Amino acid sequence: MFGGLQILSYLCKFKSGKKMNRNEDTKVVLIGLKPGRYSYRFTLGDDFFAGYENEEIGGGKVEVEAEMEKNERVVLFRFRLEGEIETWCDRCLGEMKVKIEGEETLEVRFSDTEVSDEENVAILPEGASEVDLGRWLYEYVAVRLPLRHQHEEGECDPEMVKYLVSKDGEESEGQRAEREIDPRWEALKGLKQ
Ligand SMILES: [Zn+2]
Repeated sequence: MFGGLQILSYLCKFKSGKKMNRNEDTKVVLIGLKPGRYSYRFTLGDDFFAGYENEEIGGGKVEVEAEMEKNERVVLFRFRLEGEIETWCDRCLGEMKVKIEGEETLEVRFSDTEVSDEENVAILPEGASEVDLGRWLYEYVAVRLPLRHQHEEGECDPEMVKYLVSKDGEESEGQRAEREIDPRWEALKGLKQ
């Protein structure tokens, strides 16, 4: 049962990663700001990532530089992200870090009726006094974590690797690939936390 839940939450990681926690540090106040350009800097740390349910992200530190262009009816953001995420190796389940970097844009519009499915568009209620960028910043990081991530060859936890080899014997590439996508393995990884 526990294993089942672990797998479920693994499969739902992107959906369940939203709206868990309102993060004061990623809010930008809009009310009273004259149209123009503004710069912000955010540091997404362990506390930030702990606010979202994602077993693949154990923590990390990602610096975000944000440029905001505020107009009367629309606010445009341009983000640059750079940092590291702590996660677990698919092969030995040991901790490992994955570098994250990239650029994103977000267009914020204001409407009480409009909805948008567009990836980089956010609709806020008319007259919204602030925008919390947390869930977008979180998603920018989450989508950059590769689906498969392993230590460099030879850097896996030797004890775990020994165990894997003695358990599976001389495994072929095919067997190894099969094991690595075995959902029970993902469940184990969850338990290890
Ligand atoms: Zn490893």
